[in-house]
Amino acid sequence: MSRTVIVKLLGSKIGFNALSKKITLLWKPKGSFQLMDLDNEFYLVQFDDTDDYKNVLTGGPWVVYGNYLTVRPWSLDFSSTNADMSIQVVWIRLPGLLEGFYSKVLLRAIGQIIGPVIKLNINTNLERKGQFTRLAVCVDLQKLLISKVRINDQLQRVEYESLRNVCFQCGLYSHSSEGCIGTKGPQPGKENESLGIVGVSSGI
Ligand SMILES: [Zn+2]
Repeated sequence: MSRTVIVKLLGSKIGFNALSKKITLLWKPKGSFQLMDLDNEFYLVQFDDTDDYKNVLTGGPWVVYGNYLTVRPWSLDFSSTNADMSIQVVWIRLPGLLEGFYSKVLLRAIGQIIGPVIKLNINTNLERKGQFTRLAVCVDLQKLLISKVRINDQLQRVEYESLRNVCFQCGLYSHSSEGCIGTKGPQPGKENESLGIVGVSSGI
């Protein structure tokens, strides 16, 4: 069950054949994939190709009929009967990350505090080093998102870049939950002052 993702279209229903066509167009997979119908409008997609799997997890946001197609890695504890959509892959940025802390090992450590890292993009432009350090991480939006990490004595800001236009209230990809004129409920994914701590010995 590696290379397997769970997808669900937020705020709308989609049939098996329609979804199969849509994701073929949208994802343009190199290899083949198998689509499986689960309960509660969830679908499971298993890829033959690891690159396809990673592209789908990190290449979003995917939009189908104007709605946000959620994608998450399949995990053993996934249950379509009580799954909520709070587990999502999001891109985070670490703006202005200090040069001395610029190592894959450290970035992975930071990612592990926030959530499992799916992909790491390190900008190789030396002049603007660190500015575009991006990590695709799997986060639980019902938990408070960590907005700062302490690296030894430095506070590092964490930005969540791909949630701006997703409405988890109505499912549309055009506005955030805060801007939704539909139902009002608890706002997932709200950032607060929660802090993760990474201890790094000097020399990394
Ligand atoms: Zn909305």
